Amino acid sequence: MILTDQEVERYARQVVMPEIGEVGQKKLLDAKVLILGAGGLGAPVIAGLAGAGVGHLTVIDDDEVELTNLNRQIIHSMDRLAMNKAESAALFSRSLNPDIQVHIKTIRFSEKNADTLVGSHDLVVDCTDNDETRYLVNRKCYQHKAPLIFAGAVRTDGQITCFVPDAEESPCLRCIFPQTELDYDQAPSCSIAGVLGSTTLIMGALQTAEAIKLLTQTGTALIGRLLLYDGLSARFTEISVSADPACPVCGKG
Ligand SMILES: [Zn+2]
Repeated sequence: MILTDQEVERYARQVVMPEIGEVGQKKLLDAKVLILGAGGLGAPVIAGLAGAGVGHLTVIDDDEVELTNLNRQIIHSMDRLAMNKAESAALFSRSLNPDIQVHIKTIRFSEKNADTLVGSHDLVVDCTDNDETRYLVNRKCYQHKAPLIFAGAVRTDGQITCFVPDAEESPCLRCIFPQTELDYDQAPSCSIAGVLGSTTLIMGALQTAEAIKLLTQTGTALIGRLLLYDGLSARFTEISVSADPACPVCGKG
């Protein structure tokens, strides 16, 4: 027996799947996942991974829950307004699944803590809306050979892909978005452009699926493929993306 009776029952609907099984569930229970941000994308990712029994979650967010978050950040609630989002996420996760460990950091992900955080986890999910953080975590994940699941969402549009340093064909964030630091503020933020809760829920659910696949080594991960979601027309489009030999982060040329 790999799992306890309680684990077999709690995770029955996924353990019964041949793609997961007890072996896959044990991999999830042993996994350490770092989630950057407990906002729009973080909410479904945290709920999805906690529910699936990913055994060790670390959530980092220095932001507080605000009323304007609650159209989409459904792990938070009215009684937790002004609470730190990582703290609120931990309360949600422990209530959903007390059998997993949830660690929180109520600080900003930065050069100071990035190596320790990324280096002590098996996989990182980027749920931030800050380009500076995105480029930082991309660089650190490449250095520590940690898979990074990237997604973005604004209005009714989303995008997602996985960067896996150990995969030969995998680009990194910098390969496909080769901006310089001066371009950080080009993309419209959700506070200005708006965002539907359905968009972040869908993109966060896709990130959760990629995380479970990578951790259990099942299926085909979104590597070298950028998946675009157009919520208004309900269409997905896939773009091939490749590593840039001249990339300053991962380039081998
Ligand atoms: Zn690169």
